Amino acid sequence: MATSVPTKEPRKREPHAPGKFRRVIEQMAPYVPGEQPKPGERLIKLNTNENPYPPSPRVGRAVARAMAAGALRLYPPPRADEFVQAAARLYDFPSSMILAGNGSDELLAMLFRATLGRNDKVAYALPTYSLYDTLASIQEARVTRVPLGANFALPLDKLGRQAARLTIVCSPNSPCGTLADHDALDQLARKLADRLLVIDEAYVDFAQGNALDLARRHENVVVLRTLSKSFSLAGMRLGLCFAHAGVITELQKVKDSYNLNRLAIVAGAAAINDLDWMRRNAARVVSTRALTENRLRSIGFEVPPSQANFVLARLAGKDMALVATGLRRRGVLVRHFPRSVFYDGLRISIGTPAEMSALFAALPPLVKPLIGSCQKAATP
Ligand code: PMP
Repeated sequence: MATSVPTKEPRKREPHAPGKFRRVIEQMAPYVPGEQPKPGERLIKLNTNENPYPPSPRVGRAVARAMAAGALRLYPPPRADEFVQAAARLYDFPSSMILAGNGSDELLAMLFRATLGRNDKVAYALPTYSLYDTLASIQEARVTRVPLGANFALPLDKLGRQAARLTIVCSPNSPCGTLADHDALDQLARKLADRLLVIDEAYVDFAQGNALDLARRHENVVVLRTLSKSFSLAGMRLGLCFAHAGVITELQKVKDSYNLNRLAIVAGAAAINDLDWMRRNAARVVSTRALTENRLRSIGFEVPPSQANFVLARLAGKDMALVATGLRRRGVLVRHFPRSVFYDGLRISIGTPAEMSALFAALPPLVKPLIGSCQKAATP
């Protein structure tokens, strides 16, 4: 019997019939990650704060060794022991106070899942890392967003007054790169008493100072780190959570059993064991950052001093959407947040000096008309 062959394309359907998912999921906007070039597409990537330099060569060797030993046949160790032990040695924490994540995004997801139910309150700065909004929506949590203070300062005092079940401080903050004062964070931890304070230190290796000691000193403090930025391992998905053992125990209950794969575990341990490599690359990024800030200011941008591996370049009141698309046409990807309070800014990751030169070749003609109109508006 001949099988019938469809002669027409099936009618385009909605991706799903409404009502199949939780209402909140159907109604929420998805998190929008920065663009990743397609294979073969040659773009200068200054949009997702990756490190322009490669990871330690020890990483590749460790992965090759693991492959040669047939690592992939067996499930990985659920607590990513080798990676956690390397982190314990480097940061001088007991292993019981460290949890490894599939990127710090996964650790954030675990924290939201474990602490927030419907209408529970979570507080963080506005603007900050936009994934927090997505995770709060999934939990149906109530969000209090506290605007930054003068000079892009993190609003720690005001966050303390919210008494939210979960408070998050991203330090250095994205997208402006400001670092929270250590002693003010210490006071915030005291003020929040037994409510959790998460300090997201994704970019802290590019900063002067950090707050890791607060995770040791306060039972309610969680510090998050990632190997995506300073250790050049965004593609491996490796994050670390430091907190008192009681917090780690609760978080483990909501963790995927085998959240890190075996290659990532050995890669993470190898990277952490080559701290000098990371420090050298972070220092190169920091020195390029200083040159980038000066150059942007000389063009006419307002640039808050950054402690991260990116800078925010603003022209107050001027929508930067067309500048971002113009740069993309010239082969340079930067990040623009259209619906953010910083719609008038571009977040630019620090690349190699050659990559920044390409940016500065493309940028001035695109912003000249905007700067001209800024000056005209200011002249009576
Ligand atoms: N926190 C902040 C503030 C970030 O910008 C990022 C990167 N987008 C992350 C956490 C997550 O990093 P990863 O999941 O790559 O560790």
